[in-house]
Amino acid sequence: MSFNPPVFEDPARDSFETSLWHETAIAVPRYPKLSGRQKAEVVVIGSGYTGLSAAIDLAAQGKDVVVLDAREPGFGASGRNGGQVIPAFKYDPDGIAKVYGEELGEAVLDMVSKTADVVFDLVRRFDIACDPRQTGWIQAAYGSSGIDKVKSRHRQWQQRGAPVELLERDELARQTGTGLYPLGVLFRNGGTVQPLSYARGMAIAAASIGARILAYSLVRAIEPDASGWRVSTADGSVTAARVIIATNGYNTPIWPGLRESVVPLYSMQIASPPLPPELSRQVLPVVEAMADTRRLVWYFRKDRDHRFVIGSRGPFKARPSESDARTLVEAACKLFPALRDTAFPYRWAGRVAMTTDQIPHLHQLAPGVFAALGCNGRGVGMGTMMGKILAAASMGAERQVLPYPVSELHPIPFHAFHRVGVHAMITCYRMLDQFS
Ligand SMILES: Cc1cc2nc3c(=O)[nH]c(=O)nc-3n(C[C@H](O)[C@H](O)[C@H](O)COP(=O)(O)OP(=O)(O)OC[C@H]3O[C@@H](n4cnc5c(N)ncnc54)[C@H](O)[C@@H]3O)c2cc1C
Repeated sequence: MSFNPPVFEDPARDSFETSLWHETAIAVPRYPKLSGRQKAEVVVIGSGYTGLSAAIDLAAQGKDVVVLDAREPGFGASGRNGGQVIPAFKYDPDGIAKVYGEELGEAVLDMVSKTADVVFDLVRRFDIACDPRQTGWIQAAYGSSGIDKVKSRHRQWQQRGAPVELLERDELARQTGTGLYPLGVLFRNGGTVQPLSYARGMAIAAASIGARILAYSLVRAIEPDASGWRVSTADGSVTAARVIIATNGYNTPIWPGLRESVVPLYSMQIASPPLPPELSRQVLPVVEAMADTRRLVWYFRKDRDHRFVIGSRGPFKARPSESDARTLVEAACKLFPALRDTAFPYRWAGRVAMTTDQIPHLHQLAPGVFAALGCNGRGVGMGTMMGKILAAASMGAERQVLPYPVSELHPIPFHAFHRVGVHAMITCYRMLDQFS
């Protein structure tokens, strides 16, 4: 199979140095660039959670793995996200069972409910210094439709044996410090990590067991070769029988239709300095991470040093302006009026890869070439899990034994105009949220 990618957009332009995570993360080793002609058993493109998790599993099996990134580990969404470890899809469990059928649907749900444990186990196994806190994750009801959603979500997960608990208004307020929500569902096995430290720590872990991590190596082409595939950058190439593409919302056009199968939406966040102890006791005192059921979701948490971090949908730019961020400051004060005099010196944004069905996609693109993308804002756990599934698939695991369906690649029609569609959708969602 041969094709010519149309343009090479370098994700390196989408800088992330303004984030809180960049300031507080563990150091990143200086990884070399790809140069000359190299060989491997598997080439992984993209060093976010998905690619690195695949690399860890493959290297642990003794496979010769090369990981290439246009920038460095964690440069994409993995280094910019909210760090909320969420053991659930956006979809309700019954909906998943309907989409995939009883047997596969239940296998997918079982896998999704284990994603948080997979993250925290990996952190423990490699002693990754990413401030792991498995203190639970709450989804709070926004508006009357949110109450129904939370109740049925709780019931459906409980029926499947997930460690969930329904929190009524007073108990919710006691655990979170905000009185804004009437009801919430607590996922006891959820929690938080420092997202960039987690990604960097995964790269260190992968390298410690033999994976070759290469940075500043933007892949420009994937072409058939006598030994399978040749993956090329401006300075070199790697040939391998197997290729894993884990470029998610930061993808460049390296495979026909892949980039067009997701819509990259921007989500922005702001963060405070460390809150004084008295104030910190009023903000997320017990459960430290939560989100609500709004269409334009508010998600918020505290970090290791008691900084308050809040995020929601943002404009199409990596560096939101002060006025873009004002809506988040207002949201923070609505949730926690005690934050009214708090400054928010950090603001940043990242691309969330959305699929039209809101479910992550796993593809086999050609013999030996696999891709997974579109975690729809749930990729800390799901990306880590998808990496494991990609590793198994690339080593020849039969589709029937994978806990996730391999689907056809479907580029979204009129993808080039996605910004117009997204603007219209956001305006509509904002209105619907106001009337919820
Ligand atoms: C602002 C924000 C908040 C979020 N909050 C949460 C949250 O709280 N909880 C949660 O579970 N999820 C959250 N998410 C989603 C989560 O961050 C992602 O689903 C996850 O990080 C995806 O990981 P990944 O490895 O698939 O992709 P990425 O981390 O995006 O990695 C892709 C990598 O591919 C590289 N790349 C791209 N093209 C090429 C190329 N041609 N050659 C070489 N390398 C290339 C990029 O440089 C990048 O490093 C959030 C996302 C954002 C943006």
